Amino acid sequence: MLCVTSTAYSPAELLHRLRARTSASPVTHIEEIPARTGRTAPWPSWAAPDVIAALTAHGIAQPWEHQAEAASLAAQGTHVVIATGTASGKSLAYQLPVLSRLHDDPRATALYLSPTKALAADQLRAVAKLSLDGVRPATYDGDTSREEREWIRQHSRLVLTNPDMLHHGLLPGHSRWATFLRRLSYVVIDECHAYRGVFGSHVSHVLRRLRRLAARYGGSPTFVLASATSGDPADAASRLTGLPVTAVTTDTSPRGATTFALWEPPLLPPEDPSLDLPPVRRSALSETADLLADSVVAGTRTLAFIRSRRGAEVVATMTRRALDAAVPGLGDRVAAYRAGYLKEDRRKIERALLSGELLALASTNALELGVDLVGLDAVLICGYPGTRASLWQQAGRAGRAGGEALAVLIARDDPLDTYLVHHPSALFGRPVEATVLDPANPYVLGPQLCCAASEAPLTAADLEMFGGDAARAAVEGLTASGALRRRPSGWYWTHPGRPDVDLRGAGGAPVSVVESSTGRLLGTVDQTSSHVMLHTGAVYLHQGVTYLVDDLDLDDAIALVHQEEPDWSTHARDVTDVSVLGVRSSVQAGPVGLFLGEVEVTGQVVSYQRRRIGSGEVIDTKPLDLPVRELRTVAVWFTITPQALDAAGVKPPDVPGALHAAEHAAIGLLPLMATCDRWDIGGLSTANHVDTEAPTVFVYDGHPGGAGFAERAYATAAAWLSATREAIAACSCESGCPACVQSPKCGNGNNPLHKLGAVQVLDTVLTALSTTDPNEADAP
Ligand SMILES: [Zn+2]
Ligand SMILES: [Zn+2]
Repeated sequence: MLCVTSTAYSPAELLHRLRARTSASPVTHIEEIPARTGRTAPWPSWAAPDVIAALTAHGIAQPWEHQAEAASLAAQGTHVVIATGTASGKSLAYQLPVLSRLHDDPRATALYLSPTKALAADQLRAVAKLSLDGVRPATYDGDTSREEREWIRQHSRLVLTNPDMLHHGLLPGHSRWATFLRRLSYVVIDECHAYRGVFGSHVSHVLRRLRRLAARYGGSPTFVLASATSGDPADAASRLTGLPVTAVTTDTSPRGATTFALWEPPLLPPEDPSLDLPPVRRSALSETADLLADSVVAGTRTLAFIRSRRGAEVVATMTRRALDAAVPGLGDRVAAYRAGYLKEDRRKIERALLSGELLALASTNALELGVDLVGLDAVLICGYPGTRASLWQQAGRAGRAGGEALAVLIARDDPLDTYLVHHPSALFGRPVEATVLDPANPYVLGPQLCCAASEAPLTAADLEMFGGDAARAAVEGLTASGALRRRPSGWYWTHPGRPDVDLRGAGGAPVSVVESSTGRLLGTVDQTSSHVMLHTGAVYLHQGVTYLVDDLDLDDAIALVHQEEPDWSTHARDVTDVSVLGVRSSVQAGPVGLFLGEVEVTGQVVSYQRRRIGSGEVIDTKPLDLPVRELRTVAVWFTITPQALDAAGVKPPDVPGALHAAEHAAIGLLPLMATCDRWDIGGLSTANHVDTEAPTVFVYDGHPGGAGFAERAYATAAAWLSATREAIAACSCESGCPACVQSPKCGNGNNPLHKLGAVQVLDTVLTALSTTDPNEADAP
């Protein structure tokens, strides 16, 4: 085998080589993140000597200060969240108090919750190898057999599970867990930043249900949460658990210096200069594959993160091909890595990368990677992963103690990516996003109260825990509608069977996507999105594989699909209308109004177009017969008077296109402010709206009752809309492209769009808002 490691370049030299590769530099910014030396603390005096001995034997000489601080808070019974970077050793912060307690009190139990099975499995391995007597750690999830479950209930003192299992299994069957719950001393919530939006709001109530039942049996556990660095982690953890939580955020683990480069793929030379076509950028995938090949040649151990499974495979294949063409056999040192591979295969690949046998991996998201896979030389991030928190989590895989590392963010053709590579201050030196969730969402609260009542009657005192006034109002409504029955001892769930509540969606049974030939369930899509994504004839992408929908049956909530790779794409035409139900808050700034309120969105998918991939040529338009969808949610909207638009230079025929373009870009940029992605939100723009009687742009939360995104947009309106304006203005295209004002989810086929008009609209709004109280629209 050809050994290239002996000629390895340092990450800085590698970056230099990468930049030299293209003449027009694709590097738009370089951020030098300095090295940090670690600070250790002595083992806390309360910690069990046997636990300390086991940890020491596994290579932990002493805890870092932040680990000791969080562990000691937890040991005193203070609910605590530790929010520090990747590889900062968050798990020791909960292992130390939990294992010490289980050691010192042979009856005590603890519960560990993680958002993925893979993470629970990692944690199980980490605890099991410490071989502490009597802990008997066990994972309890959908794969656990009936016999194992029985054994776990009776004997395990550290149960590793997930919120779905808690919701569907453990809590409804709480009487069988009575002893475990009575002795419950700790609840560990790992990767708690994953609980956001509607899912996070559901999980917040699952945790309240857990607290309530534990209390019934006499247990009052201490909560220990671990989070990626996030904005205001104490507040987010407190919303999630309903308890006061203390945050530990100072990372005292050592880190090597990291060079972080922002990279915008170059424009391609026009294929036919005689045609006046808009310029096209080289795809982020090809660019990533080239960079990955270069880093292999340089002997650098590199991990590339790609957003889709197919993307990861494509990058691995392109990289291997390029390397084999240069040096036959060199391609063997690159592999793809993604969910869907067997666990053993994934661990084997990770070990090969750590040992240097493999030099490069093209991987899907970081959560699936084993926790040990850190300390690499370089990380390439193909496309902004959606949040600064995930960006840092991915970049954090690079960097050995004492060594230097390289991270590169490669922009995709998308307004947010374009904005970020030209506005490094939006990424560096500012806190990561606050995790948004809303336990008071009535569409979550009502069903969750039914679940709670079915587990044990709800008392007036319980309602305080579930949200006070909001919970009292919800229970009143549920009693009036007959879902609950009031008796002297409380509110009862009186129906046969348990309430059917899905933590990962709200409103309507999710549509199952089933492969016709095999009967295999590929996944589920919520009712609302199914009309757009799964209508009969739609091209449906599932984790990188392309399917065609043969039939969407809404009555049975099932879509039958088959695998096919057509050379056309489908675009649903969605006719949407928004009516304003109420205004919660507003700002009137001269000709501009900014509002937050409840709206009803009605939408109907009426037809779809088939378009040729590449040229975008329309092949045909087919009608669809789908019912009207209704969504009651929260929206933020702004209005501008026609006079102000005219004064800004937007002529009447251009108004619809200008507003529409501003709406698209605003939706694309909202993830900068809130932990949502553009698929969580929808929009509508109109030159004259019946309720506002003015040109209006609505941006609404795509989840019934709202998930907190519109509130966040309203609170950060000035920062959000000025980033939107910058993203459009900075794009080098002439009249709009996917990197600025076009949207992949437009229900109107991206028509009409007026790029310049959008900038003029946003300038008008921003100028007007800047004259009002700045507290009305604070920076994120
Ligand atoms: Zn553009
Ligand atoms: Zn649109």
